[in-house]
Amino acid sequence: MSSTRTAIVTGAARGIGAAVALRLASDGYAVAVVDLDETASEATVEQIAAEGGRAVAVGADVADEQQVRAAVDRVRSELGAPVVLVNNAGIIRDNLMFKMTVEDWNAVMSVHLRGAFLMTRAVQADMVEAKFGRIVNMSSTAALGNRGQVNYSAAKAGLQGFTKTLAIELGKFGVTANAIAPGFIRTDMTAATAARMGMDFADLIAAGEKAIPVGRVGEPEDVAHTVSFLASQDAGFVSGQVIYVSGGPQG
Ligand code: NAP
Repeated sequence: MSSTRTAIVTGAARGIGAAVALRLASDGYAVAVVDLDETASEATVEQIAAEGGRAVAVGADVADEQQVRAAVDRVRSELGAPVVLVNNAGIIRDNLMFKMTVEDWNAVMSVHLRGAFLMTRAVQADMVEAKFGRIVNMSSTAALGNRGQVNYSAAKAGLQGFTKTLAIELGKFGVTANAIAPGFIRTDMTAATAARMGMDFADLIAAGEKAIPVGRVGEPEDVAHTVSFLASQDAGFVSGQVIYVSGGPQG
């Protein structure tokens, strides 16, 4: 195996994905920063380069089969065959069930589930050939149920089943698959949730600090740290798991 391994992080222009890309770069990976908007991904790439790491920005919609194939081909030729994949790209289209449109249902399923499937299918042969691979799928505490998120919670629960099946199918090739289920992480996505609820983001954070056992909301780096562990060589006996990164259970 070459000394520099390649990792792909989707939805890495900002938020959790950007923190994961930075962390994997500092762990020594060459990182493909995949996002819808390639220009937006440049900021993450520049930050990685400033810290001495290696990365490329790749524009792709993870729900589009052709764009996924083209993106992974580019990663192979510019950085090398990927052995780590973090399926992090995500959107929310929240509404109460009785008001939810089919478009909002489909959009969320496409990015989270179809996107994770297409990306994973596109890279699995590289991992099998390397006899080493680490797949990390971004689920959510919403998988346990969350008002106004019937589409998102179904997709995030679906990702947990997807993860466990990948672990069963790919384990004998040295490939692990795990899911991370973050709770409240301070990003644009939770800021959008506050706006939907008609709340100031600061008030939503204050409510989170009261409800979360460790007394604070999460930061993207909390999730990145867990990805770093799951992607590490020594985590090879951890597979098919869902790790809740949520500051403790809420009663
Ligand atoms: P974010 O700040 O909204 O970032 C998500 C990124 O994904 C954006 O850069 C977005 O691009 C990109 N993206 C969306 N659709 C895409 C597509 N089809 N193809 C490629 N990229 C796409 O969200 P975040 O809070 O960092 O969340 C990251 C992941 O963690 C998501 O899967 C989310 O569901 C999950 N999560 C977040 C929290 C939380 O509290 N924040 C909690 C649990 C789970 P654009 O900017 O162009 O839309």
